[in-house]
This record gives sequence, structure tokens and C-alpha cells, in this order.
Amino acid sequence: MAYLGSAERTKEVLGRYNMSAKKKFGQNFLIDRKVLEGIVEAAGVTDSDCVLEIGPGIGSLTQYLAEAAAQVVAVEIDRSLIPVLNDTLSEYSNVTVINEDILKVDIDRIVKEKNGGRPIKVVANLPYYITTPIIMKLFESGALIESITVMIQKEVADRMAAPPGNKDYGSLTLAVGYYAEAKKIMDVVPGSFIPQPKVGSAVVSLIRYPEPKVEVEDEKFMFEIIRCAFNQRRKTLSNSISNNPAIGATRDQVVRALLKMGMDEKVRGETLSLSQFAELSDNLQHGDAMLN
Ligand code: SAM
Repeated sequence: MAYLGSAERTKEVLGRYNMSAKKKFGQNFLIDRKVLEGIVEAAGVTDSDCVLEIGPGIGSLTQYLAEAAAQVVAVEIDRSLIPVLNDTLSEYSNVTVINEDILKVDIDRIVKEKNGGRPIKVVANLPYYITTPIIMKLFESGALIESITVMIQKEVADRMAAPPGNKDYGSLTLAVGYYAEAKKIMDVVPGSFIPQPKVGSAVVSLIRYPEPKVEVEDEKFMFEIIRCAFNQRRKTLSNSISNNPAIGATRDQVVRALLKMGMDEKVRGETLSLSQFAELSDNLQHGDAMLN
């Protein structure tokens, strides 16, 4: 099989269809065999897996996935790529291409229909302009997803995998960390793509926890606190989250909740772990801190 993942083959296929990469769809095609193999290996794809690929492009990663997995479902928004994929993937009977916007697709239904309700793996070279919405949709859909192994912008990968107190630690770290363990697998240089992205890239693996990492009574409220804490990350936590209508706590109430948790009242949000945010959220919601 002649693999597509090289500069020559990618240019040849695009030329044959008189196409060029579309910026509006975040198209940067992978041309580096080592990186393509590395993604499939990091995802641990086996011949009993069903893989959901987001944005197959001309099919470069799809080929490797089709060879390793039992089944691949590839969702591509760009209609003009469908005839290309029908051609480049014609040898594989285990690939289904769906022409849809991944943000509009019912992922739970795909899992149920294509894999009899057993967990799937998500593997992709993601369009960078919608990385976070895609990942949050995958988690929030409630669909059975075992792991997500994706190429994303390096800066976003660093934010996902940052420890508390690190400059990259923030609301994305906590949102992802609520659902999964994030690990950076490898950095990838712009020369591995056509056209070259203006930013560095990295592959991350997100292994989903069977249950969210922390127990919290109202996760929406906790994420509201987290959002406010990092919107003004230079302020102390008690200043950044108090007197906010969405949270409804005075500075005194926040300070009391922090003291009750054995924390300094001058603590900044960037030093709190997810379980500390969960505890703070439950404390503020119950108003325990307000009664004491
Ligand atoms: N997988 C190919 C590769 O590695 O060479 C292409 C990756 S390219 C970075 C991102 C792909 O996602 C493009 O094919 C693009 O058209 C597709 N895409 C962009 N937005 C999408 C969306 N909302 N839903 C589905 N696919 C999308």
C-alpha cells in the first residue's frame, strides 16, 4: 500500500483533485510517517478497537488507523474531501466516512451504532481553531470514550498537562483533568505538515477516568468558580471570585471558606488543585462558611 503521509503523495493527491488546503477548516495535512505511526502507537489501537477519527483530511492518518483497528469512523466537515477519501481509502472496507461537523454529530449514537455500546478510542490530528470545543464535547457528550489521542497546538497541550502553580495551569487544565489524565506524548515540528502551521504542535493522550476525578455537588458551579479564579489570575482567590453574581459570595464568605479548608486567605487560584476547588465549591454552595 502506498501511504499518503509524505510531501510528494499529499501534493500529488491535492493536485489531482485541483485542491489546496483550506485555512478556514484548519487543514494541515500530516506528511511525516514517524509522527503518523507514533500517534497510532500512543493511542494503543488494536484490532478489537473501534476508532473515531475527527477530520480525516485526505486520509493519511486514516490509513494507519484502518490497518491497526477493527473499525474506523471518520467525520469530515469538508464536502470536497469526500470524493478524495472515497478514492484514497477504497482499499479499506472497515472505514466509514461521515460528512458532518463534529460539533453537530451525535457521538453517543455513533458509539452505540458502530460499536454496540462498547467504548471507542478517539484519534485525530485536530483542526486547531476548535480544539477545546471538540474535546469538551467529547467529554460532555457522555458517550463511552476510553481515550482521546490527538495532535493539537503545543501551547494548548502544555496547558492541558500542567501541574498546579505552573504558568500554564488554568481552567483548561482543570476542565480536562476532571474527566481524564492528560499526558504529553511528543512535540511535533511545523515541517511535519503541509502547509506548515505557524505554531508548534504536540500529541497528547487523555485517558478517561471511569468517574470524574473529584466528587462535587454542582460541577457547573465549580467550573464557574474556576473560570472567575483564572480570569483574574493575578488577584488573590478571595478577591477574584467574591462579589460575582454567578457565585453569590462576599469576600468575607470566601475567606471563611478558605480558612475552613486550612488555606491562607491570600492564596491564589493557580495554586489550588481540582479537589480543593471541589471542596471550595461545596463549601460556598452550602453556605457553611457563611453560618460559622
Ligand atoms: N487527518 C488529516 C491529516 O492528519 O493529514 C487532516 C488533519 S487537519 C489538521 C484537520 C481536519 O479536520 C481537516 O480535514 C478539516 O477539514 C477537518 N475539520 C475541520 N473542522 C471540522 C469539523 N468541525 N468537523 C469535522 N472535521 C473538521
